[in-house]
Amino acid sequence: MLSALNLSDRGLSVTVIDAGGQRPPASWAGGGILSPLFAWRYPDAMNRLTHDATARYRGLVDRLRGKAGLRASDLNESGLWAAADGDERRNALRWASAWGVSCQEAPLSRYLSEAPEREGLWFPAIGNLRNPRLLKALRVALVAQGVKFVNAAVDAVRPGAVGAELTLSRGDSLSAPRVLICAGAWTPALLAPLGVRLPLFPAKGEMLLYRLPPGRVRSIVLTDEGYLIPRADGAVLAGSTLKAGDASSYPTVTGRWALQAMAASLLPELAAVTPSHHWAGVRPGSDRDWPYLGPVPGTRGVFAAAGLHRNGLVAAPASAELLVALMCGETPPLDPADYSLSGASS
Ligand SMILES: Cc1cc2nc3c(=O)[nH]c(=O)nc-3n(C[C@H](O)[C@H](O)[C@H](O)COP(=O)(O)OP(=O)(O)OC[C@H]3O[C@@H](n4cnc5c(N)ncnc54)[C@H](O)[C@@H]3O)c2cc1C
Repeated sequence: MLSALNLSDRGLSVTVIDAGGQRPPASWAGGGILSPLFAWRYPDAMNRLTHDATARYRGLVDRLRGKAGLRASDLNESGLWAAADGDERRNALRWASAWGVSCQEAPLSRYLSEAPEREGLWFPAIGNLRNPRLLKALRVALVAQGVKFVNAAVDAVRPGAVGAELTLSRGDSLSAPRVLICAGAWTPALLAPLGVRLPLFPAKGEMLLYRLPPGRVRSIVLTDEGYLIPRADGAVLAGSTLKAGDASSYPTVTGRWALQAMAASLLPELAAVTPSHHWAGVRPGSDRDWPYLGPVPGTRGVFAAAGLHRNGLVAAPASAELLVALMCGETPPLDPADYSLSGASS
């Protein structure tokens, strides 16, 4: 939808074809952390897409505020605390200095009431987003700008001399001079018939939501065991599980137990609170730590966004900007070679 917005802003006629409920999007299930988990563990190609995501989303939330109930506070800028000692701490400090991200030493107890003492670093400028609200607002804005939505699955993409013809599950087809394939965990099924095979896989993830009085969790808290994300209204998300190869989107009892144990180990009072929501989503998993964004080799006018894995929300604004520049023949804001699908086709 962000690519659709950028295309529509350029005055182009845009249609979004989405299978809707048949293949639930990861984007509605995500926790909304606007940073890769432990960003310093990622290569520059990912950090280039993500280091300024909170500022980018601030601009987007300003633009969309009021639509579908989106509020400024749906972007929670309460920072991110990450457990880090020894080498981890040194790497994090080096990363923060290289990317101009502000960072300070801070005890966990500053952000979590009754937390066990633990060494870590706090990044005040990293926010989190109430992504389902943003997505609803985005859709309202797109419709108001004249973007068409078609509720159908694309069964096949057939490249032409320029662009492609799309066969839809409802029996008809659509053609366009520029096509962007961005079907999340289902993208490989559309790319494989075009001769493009990437190391992609579905990666199921589960999350819990607790209702607490505001202020119990005062920053995102990130550890290797899991994370807590505070929302402005006091709700706290606990995430997340990761099961590579699983494309089912139903929550499980084992997932719930694992997340409840993790959440209570960080904030002991959660042992006595029943989560009010539990859900699952399917990430577009990838063997590499940054996505594939760009033209589909062997076609003219067909593009793909694939393998955003755990970072599709944080990377979305910069990814959409890169893709749309490539689709429109403009100078790309980043070196597209890093994200190319070439060399990956069979
Ligand atoms: C539990 C969990 C927590 C997460 N937390 C975070 C986080 O904190 N921060 C972060 O940045 N990322 C997070 N992520 C990852 C993020 O949600 C994904 O990387 C991102 O949503 C992927 O976006 P996408 O557009 O590629 O795919 P999706 O959001 O899955 O969208 C794909 C769309 O394609 C449609 N579709 C599929 N096949 C077809 C077809 N054949 N025809 C038509 N339409 C089709 C689907 O209906 C869907 O709407 C999390 C994910 C999960 C599951």
